[in-house]
Amino acid sequence: MAKGKKQPKRILIVGGGYVGLYTALGLQKKLRSLEASVTVVDPQPHMTYQPFLPEAAAGSIEPRHVVVPLRKVLRRCHVLTGRVIKIDHATKTATVESIDGHTDQVEYDLLISALGSVSRLLPIAGLEERGVGFKTVGEAIYLRNHVLSRLDLAESTSDPELRRKLLSFVVIGGGYAGVEALAELEDMARYAVRYYDTISAKDMRWVLVEASNRIMPEVSAKMGVYTVKVLEKRGIEVFLDTRAKSLEDGHVVLDDGTEFDADTIIWTAGVKANPMLANTDLPLDARGRVRCTAELQIEGLADAWAAGDNAAVPDLSRIAEDPTATCSPSAQHAVRQAKRLVPNVLAALRGRKQKPYVHKYQGSVASLGLYKGVTDVLGVIRLKGFLAWGLHRAYHLSRMPTFNRKVRIMFDWLGAFVFRREVISMGQIHDPKTEFTRAAKS
Ligand SMILES: Cc1cc2nc3c(=O)[nH]c(=O)nc-3n(C[C@H](O)[C@H](O)[C@H](O)COP(=O)(O)OP(=O)(O)OC[C@H]3O[C@@H](n4cnc5c(N)ncnc54)[C@H](O)[C@@H]3O)c2cc1C
Repeated sequence: MAKGKKQPKRILIVGGGYVGLYTALGLQKKLRSLEASVTVVDPQPHMTYQPFLPEAAAGSIEPRHVVVPLRKVLRRCHVLTGRVIKIDHATKTATVESIDGHTDQVEYDLLISALGSVSRLLPIAGLEERGVGFKTVGEAIYLRNHVLSRLDLAESTSDPELRRKLLSFVVIGGGYAGVEALAELEDMARYAVRYYDTISAKDMRWVLVEASNRIMPEVSAKMGVYTVKVLEKRGIEVFLDTRAKSLEDGHVVLDDGTEFDADTIIWTAGVKANPMLANTDLPLDARGRVRCTAELQIEGLADAWAAGDNAAVPDLSRIAEDPTATCSPSAQHAVRQAKRLVPNVLAALRGRKQKPYVHKYQGSVASLGLYKGVTDVLGVIRLKGFLAWGLHRAYHLSRMPTFNRKVRIMFDWLGAFVFRREVISMGQIHDPKTEFTRAAKS
């Protein structure tokens, strides 16, 4: 670099999920040549479109199509596959642990914290051993294979108690993630049992457990009640105002005295900000989220921003009624905050004024299985059944990053419409050495 020439600034984006990917895409498009370099660090080589995980678990979408490969789409950024384990903003250094285990110090000038959230576990006996989360594409693939393989096992056992346990499925947590996961997996299993001689839909037990007195707080109370009715009509048991007390060895004990055995326990009872943030010198609120201004800048820092599930961003649309209101953890906020982040970071680089983030939460669309859904947009467009399901698909397809993924997903839906669902369990991928080891011993 010639003397006196300005060095490009180094922008570090920690996390390549919703916020990280959208911000990097915007910056790589808008940055002038040599204005700044962008580095994105994520332990996964892809961004996951989480709202499509239930459809991926149910086999309506090929799981590969709900993730976006970071290296392929971020051609003008550096992508590091590793986990940030420490951020020292005082010295502007992040410690990155690579997938091979070695650590590197990455220096930066501007920081964007986009670390998202993780499942919030409670101290319940057996939860860690027996529970499965529903936040990653790996968990969605696992659950699909697991549920289908329970049907195979139930068909082959002669032990009635074991069979009952294998055919009992529990989801704990009644937010959209839990309800959609339950509804899609139940729908898939209900379709699959037609191919089994000894199992019918009524042999399966599907249970939803929710600690509060309603499900799906993302939609109106009325739509929440409607959703419970739809699930119950399908034979799904919904326990409201109920908590799981113990899950040891798959023996589910609820605090209303209900007890039963279940071989599938899905935990979707909330998320918390990424705990890695405790290993940084960034200001955090009582819930462990990075404290931000309405411009998405980290409080007190002119060269650092945060957005999405890991950030406490003032919700200006609700500030009049509640001055402490912050944006809820949702894709709706994450995408829009990323879109505000891009001009704000550019404004900071170019010495211009940044603008605040304002967005009124618009409600939710949710799928309850094939051709079934529920929608509540601004409390005005309240749809049920097929129309709501159609809107759910149209909305999420429009939000899915990249044209490539949108087209692939449309072909998946078309294929499933023409040839109906795939109900193959690919459980072998969880234990690929079995056949090889058997061959070696023969
Ligand atoms: C099943 C499911 C369904 C959902 N449905 C909806 C819906 O219908 N509507 C809606 O609005 N919202 C929905 N959400 C919520 C929405 O997906 C999240 O709010 C959104 O993904 C948040 O974006 P983010 O960028 O903050 O976090 P994420 O998208 O989670 O990205 C965080 C990234 O950080 C990476 N990371 C983690 N730790 C580290 C580390 N130490 N170093 C570097 N990188 C790290 C992760 O690998 C990840 O890629 C759903 C969520 C789930 C789980």
